[in-house]
Amino acid sequence: MIARAEQPEPGKKPLRSCVGCKVREAKSSLLRLVVAGDGIVPDPHARQPGRGAYLHPSLECFELAQRRRAFSRALRAPGSLSTASLASYLGTQDTTGNLYGKQVEKL
Ligand SMILES: [Zn+2]
Repeated sequence: MIARAEQPEPGKKPLRSCVGCKVREAKSSLLRLVVAGDGIVPDPHARQPGRGAYLHPSLECFELAQRRRAFSRALRAPGSLSTASLASYLGTQDTTGNLYGKQVEKL
């Protein structure tokens, strides 16, 4: 019989990789991101359904992820995603949101 509640065991915290710097961290110290419409929105309380990606809530990791188009990959988004909401959440004036989908995928 398996009667185990979904409680994180001590010393066994769920880890997630930051889509920016790729460092694995406790899920709780990363910001969850989800797709809403054609954009990425922060999901700080992890309440949104669907596939999520995780990012350190820092501009550095945000820019890293944006530069390598890691958001689309992590979120399995077919096209470009606006990062304006996320950018404003992180407190930056994002002007690259529109450029995001215009680059040619080289992979
Ligand atoms: Zn990071």
